[in-house]
Amino acid sequence: MNADPTPRILVVGGGVSGLVAARDLARSGAEVVLFERGDRPGGRIRREVLAGVPVDVGAEAFATRGGAVSELLGELGLENEIVSPAPLGSWVVAGERAVPLPAAGTLGIPVAPLSPASRRALGLPGALRAAIEPLLPRAVGGGRGTLGDLVRARLGKRVLERLVRPVALGVHSADPAELAVSSVPGLPGALERRGSLIAAARELRASSSAAGGAVAGLRGGMTALVEALLADLGDAGVAVRTGVAVDRVEREDESWTAFDANGQQLDRGNAVILAVSEEAAGSLLGGPARSGSSSVRVEVVALALDEPRLDSAPRGTGALVAAEPGSRSAGAASPPRIVAKALTHVTAKWPERAQRAGSGLHIVRLSYGRAGNPPETAGLGDAAVQRLALQDASRILGVDLRRESLRGMLRREWLTAPPRNTSRDVSAVPVPHGVFVAGDWVGGTGLASVIPAARAAADQALRMIRETKQARTTEHEGAPRA
Ligand SMILES: Cc1cc2nc3c(=O)[nH]c(=O)nc-3n(C[C@H](O)[C@H](O)[C@H](O)COP(=O)(O)OP(=O)(O)OC[C@H]3O[C@@H](n4cnc5c(N)ncnc54)[C@H](O)[C@@H]3O)c2cc1C
Repeated sequence: MNADPTPRILVVGGGVSGLVAARDLARSGAEVVLFERGDRPGGRIRREVLAGVPVDVGAEAFATRGGAVSELLGELGLENEIVSPAPLGSWVVAGERAVPLPAAGTLGIPVAPLSPASRRALGLPGALRAAIEPLLPRAVGGGRGTLGDLVRARLGKRVLERLVRPVALGVHSADPAELAVSSVPGLPGALERRGSLIAAARELRASSSAAGGAVAGLRGGMTALVEALLADLGDAGVAVRTGVAVDRVEREDESWTAFDANGQQLDRGNAVILAVSEEAAGSLLGGPARSGSSSVRVEVVALALDEPRLDSAPRGTGALVAAEPGSRSAGAASPPRIVAKALTHVTAKWPERAQRAGSGLHIVRLSYGRAGNPPETAGLGDAAVQRLALQDASRILGVDLRRESLRGMLRREWLTAPPRNTSRDVSAVPVPHGVFVAGDWVGGTGLASVIPAARAAADQALRMIRETKQARTTEHEGAPRA
């Protein structure tokens, strides 16, 4: 590489992580080239239009914790576009039983186990069992266990089965038995400080009192964030190359070169940011092919329904699905089990979306797929998925939805990072000097985690470049004159 004073940095991946890293790099004066293999940037933030209503088929909201997303939105001039979900709360559905989700601190852990909502969800024995938790010795459930072990030991089986498992499956696509306590943002520290799970959940709870309320969205959907980032990248002269898949990155002397699958050199820079999945990062760095994908496959199915009976938002902003009691031994006369893991009533949750939809039209979004299994919709044709989604939505919402009320359907499958657990080696990808990584396998799931992680990756890259330059200057100044 020549001694060009302007550092040149390659970013692989045009999801929010890559876009945020590219923006920070460009604003610090670097020349940036971003590669996105898809037809448009955004990754798992994607807007589609269903029956004339914009629908997020990937991320639809952001956690307000930490303030990192709001800070970025402020920098992008989007602060007035932030919208709050309707304060309707969400529900948990188990078979025929549907109850409002009690106010929770994190991952369904109740903050007030004896409140009417908690008693309704847990029954009196479950609520009383949970209520004694602050009196238990700190050591109960301690150690390096999973969230499932911890919750069962401290709060009892009902909290685990009726609240924490559905929330963990709905939010992380993971069973709490697979989820490390250390992977839940803020929980280990709060638990250490408070010595009780309920007290930790209270500490973590954001100001909003409705469960699931500690999130916000953007008018018209999260794609507004992608659009604003792209506008900024355009202003800063970042080259965004869509439809270009990087196959590998290789170090040559002090620079990094990106190649496509034909071995063609795509570009060259002083550093590389890999804002892709862990598997993709491993493969780009020439690591050994991993046996079997550890990513979780999920499918989102959105339905547009002309159904005034949904005007009352029967399940608030949406519902998480818990295992049905006795579902495995259910007889032939039992109603079919709910296959979806969660439903969002989009037009109830986001009033501005209801305005766009107009009277009587509702958008509901179901999600399918849990860690370890392909989504139940995989391999099914649209007609079969439509039947399944209508049946699931009917049972979750408690309203018999007919084919005639359907105004449209769209479906989208995603690969998402597996939850971090205690047994998995999280540093499976050795990251060489000059390469920086971002994404939910680095920072944790969700925009509130990946955005700070992407900014940290950009910062590290810039620091490395500064240090290299400084070391060269010192070396040069220290060299004996001829
Ligand atoms: C259905 C669903 C709902 C979600 N809901 C929420 C939510 O409501 N709130 C929330 O905070 N989070 C949510 N998430 C998670 C959130 O979407 C992700 O954490 C976040 O979008 C990840 O961004 P990223 O840039 O790290 O990864 P991605 O968005 O996956 O971006 C990676 C990009 O890299 C590209 N790429 C991969 N390999 C290459 C290559 N070799 N060359 C070039 N490009 C490549 C991909 O095409 C992709 O565009 C949801 C996720 C899903 C799937």
